[in-house]
Amino acid sequence: MPRGIYIRAKPPWNKGRTGVYSDEALARMGWNNIGRAPSNKGQKLSDEGRAKLSEAHQGQIAWNKGIPQTNETKEKIRESCQKYIPTEEAKKRQSYAQREQGRARRKDFISIPVVTEWRRQVFERDNWTCQFCGQRGGRLEADHIQPKCQRPDLVYVVDNGRTLCRSCHQQTPTYGRKSIGIGVQEFQLPLEVVL
Ligand SMILES: [Zn+2]
Repeated sequence: MPRGIYIRAKPPWNKGRTGVYSDEALARMGWNNIGRAPSNKGQKLSDEGRAKLSEAHQGQIAWNKGIPQTNETKEKIRESCQKYIPTEEAKKRQSYAQREQGRARRKDFISIPVVTEWRRQVFERDNWTCQFCGQRGGRLEADHIQPKCQRPDLVYVVDNGRTLCRSCHQQTPTYGRKSIGIGVQEFQLPLEVVL
């Protein structure tokens, strides 16, 4: 039977009748699981599973393509989307945060393409190995030995960089914005790294 919506003229002959088919007959027709909850009911799909499904469905035409939505459906969609529309206040907050981000970047004298190249050179010199714990690869970060805020002139100097894994980097006293307000001398103290 072609796909589509069929309007039934008279009730089906087996309406309300149970036990018309034996279990074996249902199994023969592959209907023995009809009406039973699937074994994965209520379980969430893993990301991997979702990716697989999405791949399998590539190129498939959505079942509702070309079928116009009723006004009622549109209204429902509009309603359920309301919570995703940022309020005026949220918009203000967001743009303020973005402005701050840009300001901080300029303050740190960071040019993205140049700092990316600097990072690559630091990693390459250190053979992609954490200079504290010796971890090779993984989540590596390039640390400024003399912090950016203290020695902006050394921001792009490869000798002022060292490769650290993320967890070692976080343990340096200059990680993130911790360095602000600390004198340069303090950074030259040997770092104690607890792993
Ligand atoms: Zn490390």
